[in-house]
Amino acid sequence: MPEPIYLDHAATTPVRPEVVDAMLPYFSDVFGNPSSIYGIGRQARQAVDRARDAVAEVLGCRPAEVLFTSCGSESDNLAIKGVAFARRDRGNHIITTQVEHHAVLHTCEWLERYFGFEVTYLPVDRHGVVDLAALERALTDQTILVSIMLANNEVGTVQPLRTVADLLRGRGIPLHTDAVQGGGTLTLDVDALGVDLLSLSGHKFYAPKGIGVLYVRHGTPLLPQLQGGGQERNRRAGTENVPYMVGLATALTMAAAELPSTTQRLAALRDGLIEGVLARVPGAHLTGHPTLRVAHNASFVFEGVEGEALLLALDQVGICGSTGSACTSGSLEASHVLKAMGLSAELAQGSLRLSLGKDSKEDDVARVLEVLPGTVERLRAVLPVR
Ligand code: PLP
Repeated sequence: MPEPIYLDHAATTPVRPEVVDAMLPYFSDVFGNPSSIYGIGRQARQAVDRARDAVAEVLGCRPAEVLFTSCGSESDNLAIKGVAFARRDRGNHIITTQVEHHAVLHTCEWLERYFGFEVTYLPVDRHGVVDLAALERALTDQTILVSIMLANNEVGTVQPLRTVADLLRGRGIPLHTDAVQGGGTLTLDVDALGVDLLSLSGHKFYAPKGIGVLYVRHGTPLLPQLQGGGQERNRRAGTENVPYMVGLATALTMAAAELPSTTQRLAALRDGLIEGVLARVPGAHLTGHPTLRVAHNASFVFEGVEGEALLLALDQVGICGSTGSACTSGSLEASHVLKAMGLSAELAQGSLRLSLGKDSKEDDVARVLEVLPGTVERLRAVLPVR
């Protein structure tokens, strides 16, 4: 059997060797607590400072505006709860979209259920683009936060964040973006995006799982959600995870340097994959925006096929993909993203996301195009979706 073809980079990526090398000294040699005043403590502090500087460089912000967290989910939680609780005296209304990752949606639902906040979940069009007219209509004098993702994790659609930021200008409403799927695939300059808070997760761009970033623009009210020591300028307690901070910063710097060439190469591979699938598999439809999508995402629905069955069949021939979000696969619920885009529950069940990475090759695409048509045809014959 040939080497497995990994096409699930939107779920997670391997840690690149340069990142492992950069992290290693901070596990054993320079293991000090950055709060300690002796040599290895100070060296660890310097490593944290350098990592923060490097992240700030990529985001185009001040180092003091960069907070390290434990993951993208924590960054989303901290951004939304932190601003909601800090601005509670100003209002109780939050605006987000129907297609966010559950780290945003479930946080908003929790604030509604237990703390009486009101949340508007904006609709999207059939490509997954947020309805800007609905955003304008939803704004009230009670609105204290808008949270709109940069790129969707299931279908790859990139949102018009700059337009959202322009629309909010002068209203004093902070704009948060879950940019987890944009890490390594999109420009993350916070001023160009016009955002006040931005979440990232290291494991989407070849750093380890379990490390994230939250950018918080200077002056944005944020109530910490973890109490304890004074780390991260009193905004997130807990002894710093020095090796992982170093790893994230190394990976992000490399991703930013490689961004133009990587995105160009991946977009070409992705377009070949999309064209090939649509041409060769009858009853296949692209999901997400045809052009405004992250370079690594090719996502589809197939009529008359169950996504889970398709994944298993592809796994048997050594192809790793995903149906909808990795976080929702395993549940029979049709994807909330595809439903919000107007797909029927039946069609939404036949979803497949193939996401490319920096080591993906033309041969990988060719192999998918070789096996996918027959696999779909066979499944339709033996396991028709009722
Ligand atoms: N937001 C988006 C858009 C994601 O794709 C993910 C992970 O898949 C997350 C948030 C959560 O990130 P983490 O796995 O680091 O908690």
